[in-house]
Parts: sequence; C-alpha cells; structure tokens
Amino acid sequence: MILIVDDKPENLISLRIFLEQSGFAVDEASSGEEALKKILKTVYSLIILDVQMPGIDGFEVAEMITDYNKAKDTPILFLSAVNIDKQFITKGYLTGAVDYITKPFDPDILLLKVKTFNRLFEQTNQLKKMQRSLKREIEHRKELESKKDEFLSIASHELKTPLTSVRGYIQLIERMLKREGAHPQILSHISKASLQINKLGDLVADLLDVSKIASGKMEFTLKEFRFDKMAVEAIESLQYVHQDHIMVIKGFSEIIVYGDEMRLEQVMVNFLTNAIKYSPEGKEIHIEMIHTDHELEVRITDFGIGISQKLQDQLFEKYFRVEETSVRFQGLGIGLFICSEIIQRHNGSCGVESEVGKGSTFYFTIPLIPLQVNS
Ligand code: ADP
Repeated sequence: MILIVDDKPENLISLRIFLEQSGFAVDEASSGEEALKKILKTVYSLIILDVQMPGIDGFEVAEMITDYNKAKDTPILFLSAVNIDKQFITKGYLTGAVDYITKPFDPDILLLKVKTFNRLFEQTNQLKKMQRSLKREIEHRKELESKKDEFLSIASHELKTPLTSVRGYIQLIERMLKREGAHPQILSHISKASLQINKLGDLVADLLDVSKIASGKMEFTLKEFRFDKMAVEAIESLQYVHQDHIMVIKGFSEIIVYGDEMRLEQVMVNFLTNAIKYSPEGKEIHIEMIHTDHELEVRITDFGIGISQKLQDQLFEKYFRVEETSVRFQGLGIGLFICSEIIQRHNGSCGVESEVGKGSTFYFTIPLIPLQVNS
C-alpha cells in the first residue's frame, strides 16, 4: 500500500484517484503528524510526501522515520513545487530509495517512479525473507551437526567399553587354547576373530577422535623423541602383516622431533595403511624422510589407484571418500581428516600429489623446534 501525504485535500483526492486507477492500494494523511502516526502502525511500500506542509514538513517526516524500524526500508517520493537540491533530499533519509517530482507532475513520470519504487520495495522484502529463511536453515543445520557430533561421541564411548572387554577375553581364550594345544583350525579362527576385533577397535578409536576434534578436546602430550625410530617400528610392524607390499625406506637418519609421539605414529600408520589399501596389486611403498634444520617432511608413495586432480583438495575433509572407489575399498573417510588435524596441531601441513592409475604421494611437514641446550 502507498501512503500519500499532502495538506491540500484536492491534491490528495486527485493523486488517490490516479494511483487507484493505476492499480495501487492507497492510504492518505493530511499532515506530517498524521503521516507519522500511520507510519508507526503500517508498513507502506512507498510514501509520497508533499514537501511544503504547515507543521512538520515533508523533509522533517522523512528525517524522523529513518529511525523507525517499520519504515526504514520504505522508499520516499517527494512532491515539490520547485526543483529540490538532491543533496538536501538525501540528507535525512539514507536508504537511497528517495526521489522527487515537481508539481504539477507529469502522470507518466509519476507512474514510472511509483512502479519502480514499488518493485524495489518488493524485491527488498523478498531478499529479506530469503535472508531470514537462509539464517533459519543455517541454524537448523548447525543444530543437526552438533546433535550428530553428540551422538557420535556417546556411541563411540558406549562401544569402547564392551569392545575392550571382548578383546581381553579373546586374548585370554587364545592363550588358553595355545597352552592346551588346541586344533590349528580353532587357533586360526580365534586369531581371525582377534584381527577383526582389532579393526573394530581402530574404527571406534577413529570415531572417538572425530568427536574429540569436534568438541576441541583432542589432547596432545608433547615431548622430544626419535622420530626415525618410531617411524621404522611402525613401518616394520605393518610390513610384518602386509607381506605382499615391499616397504622401501629412503633418507632415514636420526632425527629428534618435539611432538606427540603416539599421535604422529597414528599419522604414519594411517598414511601407510592407505598406501597399502589403495594399491591392491601389491608393489612397493616408498617412505622418504627429508629434513632441514627447521623442518621435517615425510613422504609416503604408493603405486596404486591414484586420485584425480579435481578431488585432491577435498581428501582431508571430514567423511570425504572418492565415490567411484568407495564400494571397492571400505572405510569411513575420517582417517585423513584426523591426520590433518594432528599435523595442524603440530603447526605443520599435509598434502598429496597423485595421478589416476599411477599412484599417490601423501606427505606431511612439521617444524623442528631447536633443542634447548642447558649451559
Ligand atoms: P578411508 O580410507 O577410511 O575412506 P581416509 O580419510 O583415510 O578414509 O581417506 C579418504 C579418501 O581418500 C579415501 O576414501 C580414498 O578415496 C582416498 N585415499 C586416501 N589415501 C589414498 C591413496 N593412497 N590412494 C588413493 N586414494 C586414497
């Protein structure tokens, strides 16, 4: 609805008739005071204001309504007997949606301006509605995300306890069976069960890590340790289990790192396990250490399936898995996300170089803090 404000009844009548005939709903006020009262109660799509009025004039009305929430987006069209200085009319009303027309007005020009302002008002309103619904949607998603994190945290904690006890019992049974000289097939079954339980344990531990990251509760125990020794042990234990891959170590030398040894071992194991998993044809895996005085870089190269260039940016995101290969290779898509968090917390960075069908190199770098020498 358009509000027309003029102190002369004959002007109000002719303007009302003209606008109503052009299809607009119209309300009117015969003074600045009455206009202000109406603006307080109703949201108008346009206010057409006579400039010269006794009492509060058109400019004063415009200036006063800038603070009204209801009217601050309403465009204003001033009607004036003389040309108005543009600077003057924009003084009190800063929304930009302001214009003027001189009396006696040309009906075509008036109609054009009214239509433009009306459209502007509707568009602004639609935009605001969209903004509001987007905001609601974002809040809703955030709420769902936090509920999911909460569920993940509870579920992984609940799974951990019975799993630990099953693992303990299986180990006991395994030992008893060995002692009693059980049938080799029974021993083989129990050792397979133990392997699967360990896998389940790793999955639950990963889920727990994700929930710890989400709640900012992943803790680190920092100390100096021999990185090369830890890495060799991790490589050797994986080599023992995965005999169809050959682990080739390059450039290893004694290096002291200040960090969380277990967490950095977790990164090594994760990169290595992926290298094994995603190169099913066997082949070699190269593990290379490059270091300067300030930085250590570890590169793990496989000659497996590789990853296309366009997906490489997303690999370290939570739950990301390459869709085309996700059925063939099992996983949750959280290992690299956890690795990236661990490396970032060591002030380092992770990356990948890869080509489909040729293989991948996953690497991470961490700064080497100079040793404190006691004098
Ligand atoms: P998961 O292996 O459990 O799916 P990760 O977070 O470890 O989860 O890896 C995310 C995704 O990155 C994997 O699903 C896989 O598509 C891809 N990826 C990781 N490592 C390699 C690799 N060495 N070669 C090819 N693709 C890999």
